[in-house]
Amino acid sequence: MARRLRRGLRLSPTPNRTGRFAPSPTGTLHLGNLRTALLAWLYARAQGAPFLLRVEDLDTGRVRPHFETEQLADLAAIGLDWDGPVVRQSERLELFGAALEQLAADGALYPCWCTRAEIREAASAPHGPLPEGHYPGTCRRLTTAQRAEREASGRPPALRVDARDALITFVDRLHGPQQGVVDDFVVRRNDGAFAYNLAVVVDDGAQAVGEVVRGDDLLDSTPRQLWLAARLELTAPSFAHVPLVLGHDGARLAKRHGAVTLADRIDQGESAADVRAHLAASIGLAAPGERPSPAELVARFDADRFAAPPSGPLPGV
Ligand code: GLU
Repeated sequence: MARRLRRGLRLSPTPNRTGRFAPSPTGTLHLGNLRTALLAWLYARAQGAPFLLRVEDLDTGRVRPHFETEQLADLAAIGLDWDGPVVRQSERLELFGAALEQLAADGALYPCWCTRAEIREAASAPHGPLPEGHYPGTCRRLTTAQRAEREASGRPPALRVDARDALITFVDRLHGPQQGVVDDFVVRRNDGAFAYNLAVVVDDGAQAVGEVVRGDDLLDSTPRQLWLAARLELTAPSFAHVPLVLGHDGARLAKRHGAVTLADRIDQGESAADVRAHLAASIGLAAPGERPSPAELVARFDADRFAAPPSGPLPGV
């Protein structure tokens, strides 16, 4: 009996729903970021899963440590909690280096000397339209002489993957079936920094993240990340891309839209609980004027039924 039970459990394993929020400490979180964090937390907690906090601080030119402190404080103030210590990507460089070595050993990398202007030019050349930002593979096709010339220039190359326009399909929890052609994207920038797409895949794999909940501005990056996870033989998470909060003019939320951060709202006399209530109301989890606790929100949130509202402004923004 026990054996049968164990075998049964193996046949239908509980899906891994470990969630995470992964802010970059390059600015203050605005209400849109806070709503994405709230949703990521709700998906994990309502499914009884762990929730991790990872600081994506690899872009040393833009990262400021005080933003990390402020971001974590704002998340805690609206009632979010997380399991285990906060993980910082800047402390995990060996992991990313090892992934690059694995890709190199696999013949999946090549150096690229293209400048942004050259890529723009090549993408608009008349050999067929390419999706915006799609790298046309110029440096993959260099002759030995062209390559030697670039090597001799002393300009450090970026490293790109050789993805050969792989077609990736996946099902997003909120957007349904998706597909995308993967270009030869950068995994190490020419200043030596590991690229976001590499670090996010390695970390989601290393931290055994089961479900990535993030803003739908990253929906288009997902095929690249799934391709890379497969190439690195990592178990890929599932995805739910949630709508962004927009300003009153339909543009992405920004400072110019007014009181868009928790600190701005507190200056105007609101409390963190009021802000949580606005965020909850905007996703149908609170009635106007009601101020549910984090635990009440978890009890109300149904991960299988949640229907994302269209991207749009929050009241008062
Ligand atoms: N660090 C990224 C950002 O702040 C998020 C990455 C992700 O959730 O995959 O936009």
